Parts: sequence; structure tokens; C-alpha cells
Amino acid sequence: MPKKLRIATLGIHHETNTFASNPTTMDSFKVSGMQTYAVQRGQQYYDMHERSSTSMAGFIQASKRLDFELVPLIFAATDPAGTISKEVFDTLGGEALEMLRDQGPFDGVLLNQMGAAVSEEYPDMDGELARRVREIVGTDVPVAMTLDLHANVSQQMADETDALVIYKTNPHTDAVPRAHDACDLVVRMARENWRPAKWLEQPPMVVGIFQHDTRDMPMKAVIDDLETVLAQPGIVGGSIGEGYPWSDVYENGLACYVLHEDSIKEAKKAARWIADRAWANRKELYEPVGPTPSEAVEYALKQAAAKPDDSGPIVLLDVGDNIGAGSSGDSTFLLAEAVKQGANSWLQTVRDTEAVDTCLRAGIGSTVTVEVGGKTDSLHGTPVELTGRITRISDGRFEDTGTVHAGWRFFDGGTTAVIESEEGPTVALVSTRVGNMSREQFYSLGYRPDDFDIVVAKGVVSPRPAYQPIAHEMVTVNTPGATSADMSTFDYKRVRDSLYPLDINAEFEHG
Ligand SMILES: [Zn+2]
Repeated sequence: MPKKLRIATLGIHHETNTFASNPTTMDSFKVSGMQTYAVQRGQQYYDMHERSSTSMAGFIQASKRLDFELVPLIFAATDPAGTISKEVFDTLGGEALEMLRDQGPFDGVLLNQMGAAVSEEYPDMDGELARRVREIVGTDVPVAMTLDLHANVSQQMADETDALVIYKTNPHTDAVPRAHDACDLVVRMARENWRPAKWLEQPPMVVGIFQHDTRDMPMKAVIDDLETVLAQPGIVGGSIGEGYPWSDVYENGLACYVLHEDSIKEAKKAARWIADRAWANRKELYEPVGPTPSEAVEYALKQAAAKPDDSGPIVLLDVGDNIGAGSSGDSTFLLAEAVKQGANSWLQTVRDTEAVDTCLRAGIGSTVTVEVGGKTDSLHGTPVELTGRITRISDGRFEDTGTVHAGWRFFDGGTTAVIESEEGPTVALVSTRVGNMSREQFYSLGYRPDDFDIVVAKGVVSPRPAYQPIAHEMVTVNTPGATSADMSTFDYKRVRDSLYPLDINAEFEHG
């Protein structure tokens, strides 16, 4: 019997929007909209994920299937937001590395990263963490890093690990099988003292957020190309990083990564084949399209009037206030249009702790006048005055056992109050920046989005698994905000000198 392998897992999981005005500090790790505890240590890290569909859930399943001992060290994940403070990296990263040192030796390491983490000190925080992990375990111990499809993959991340394994789907519904892939690779590396040959190719291009859904063209073609490569003899792994447009970092953009049994030449050839084909399609892969808020609301009202009553809502996807990508969650561009255009069957969330406090003081059944939203910064509209009855106050916690983006299960919207306004919209005022990825968010408050004419979901792709099944139609709205689809509205300083579409004459040169 071979000795049972001991494999550690740790992760500092964050998607950093360097244009967002709310920095990610130690306080941000006191609460997370996507999990009960933002920082999980030891057994807690295990228990919080075992019944989810996250990467860690996949590690746990694989440890049973492949019979290795999975040692959960620490997992820190909070909602996407602005740049991570130095204190966070020093404190949480420091604790993670100390655990790795103290609880070792290990036969392998599974880094559970999101892949777009930016700290004050390290624009490539994921790569820096990998570098420090490597420093501790040395080159004899295989290290794999699982990543969200929105990772901005750096050369350092590729160099300091033995395998990168990235989700292949957006909406993200394959965290578990990809975690199994990562475990298969690490276990084989540990048992056979083998390492795959790896190559990272980064064509200087950004995939536009409107084009991020992997089920639709043109992004589907890139994933199809990856599948073609993965089916070739000798190829033992491979991933696409879609990139995360709102991180001002050198590696911002598309990444094509291939692992071969033993040939760097073959890995490089395959990665370049995918990259060349994506590059040829760069115009189609970046197109900020979609109606303005005013056009979208007008269209939705027209469609709602024409559709059968029981055919589900028109769902407006608020691209500029994509909470799952780090925005404030309190944008009012759509809400203001709803009031202006007289939408009276309208349901949405707005994060506004001040308004929640007013409702708490007034109590259920009272009528209040509140200024709602638009309070975080100047990017997300101005407050909208609503007068209405408070119908519900809740602790904001809800659970979704169905298919949820990235497999999250336990959510926490913070103290929540619902107002049915005289102006028309029904608004759930929430306290944390929890995304609209689950219909349970409204069911738990006693409201059925199914029964409204128009529902707003803040995000582009992450709300789709929840809302597509009930929507009469989904409309992606080109709203302004910290996650605007239009890259030219941001001032990039650290990206590559020549990056499409910021430089429309960018060239992809490789030897
Ligand atoms: Zn993602």
C-alpha cells in the first residue's frame, strides 16, 4: 500500500476591482454575502463547503475518490470590491503561510484562488502568494492552483505552480469537476514524481463583459477550441482565463494555458493555436452593446404589456452595478427610470444601510419616505426618493440548494427591509453587497420575482442560472458604473502598453 498522501489546501479568494471606491480591508473579511464566515479555518473550511458546489467541495470529493488526506488550512473570501489593503495580505496571507509551515510536511498543495486579487503592495497578489507557498514547500512538492474563469493569469502564477486549473463555464457551474481535475494532477505528480510541461500564452486582448457567457458565441468558440486541444493525445490539461476587465494590472486580458505530458513545444503549440484564433476574433470578443437604462425600461414596459400574465418577468441585467464584480450594489440608474416611466410591477434590491435603519426604526406596516441608493460614490447615480409601506424586515440570510454561480449556497444580505412604494417599484433594501444570484433572495422575503413584470438583477452572467428559468426575456443593459462594459471609461495605468481594445492597433507578436 502506498502511503496516504497529505495534501494541504488554502486560499485567499478575491476579485479586486481597482476602480471601485470601497477598499478591501480587514473589516471586509468580517462578513461575506456569499458565505456564513468570510474567513474559515481548519475544520470550518471543510464543513462550510462539503455540502456546496465550490472548488473546495470538489477537493473534498476527490480526497475520498483518490484516497488522500485533505488538510484544510484557511480560506478567506469576501465579496468583490476595491484594492486589498497591505494589512489584509500581511495578516491573512501571513496566517496561511504560517499554517502551511507549521502543519507540514505536505505531499501537495491546492491553492483555492479566484485569480484577480490585487493588493496595495502586489498587483499580482495570487502570483505572490504562490511564490511564497513555493518558497516554503520547495520544488519537490506539487502545487496546483484552481481559479475562477475571470482570473487575470500572470506569468508568475504559471511559473510558481505546477498546474493552473480554471473553470470552463460562465455562469460558473463546474467548480467541482475542475477541482477534481486539479486533484488528479496533484496526486499523479506526487505519486509518480512527474511534472507536466506547461505554457501560458497571453494575446494582448480583453474579452468584453457582454461576451463573457461561455454558452454563447463568440466566447463559446474559444472554449470549444480548448476542448479540441484537451482531446489531443499528450495534452494533460489546459485552461482559458477570460480575464477580469476592472483590474488595472499588467496581465489584464485573455489567457490560454496548456499542460502537456512532457513537451513544452507541444504545450506551446496548442496554447498558441487557441490564442491565435481568439486574436483573429478580437473584434467580436469585445463589443459593448445593449440599450441604455432609459431605452431598456421603455422596452421592458412595452414587452411586459404584450406578454401573457404568467410568462414570467422581463429581467434587466444591470451591467454597471455588477456586485459580483465589485460594484457598490446601490446604483439607481434603472430605479430612477422605473419611477420616471411609471413601472408599477417592478422588483429589485438596493444596498442602503441608512434606509434600512430608517425602516427598522419605523417598523413593519409603517409608511416611510426614504432616499434610496446612489450613496457610495459618484459612479452609480443619485438617491431616488421613495414613499412606501414597509412590508417585511428580515436578517437577510438565505440558502439556495439549486444551481448557483460558482456553487455558493449560504448567503447573507444583512438586515433587509422591503418597501412597496407608491411610485411603483418594490425594493428590498439590503445591508451587504450580496449579488442577485439566487431567487431565494426574494422568496425568503415572501416575494416571488416570478409574479412581477420587471425584475432587476445586478450583474451580467452570474444572475442567469437563477433568473433564466423564470424569465420571459433577459435584457442586458449598458448601465454606467464601476463595472461598465466600456473600458474606455476607465483610466488604465498598469496594463500592457498595447492591449486591444484600449489600443485598437495592438499587435500580437510571438516567435
Ligand atoms: Zn467569475
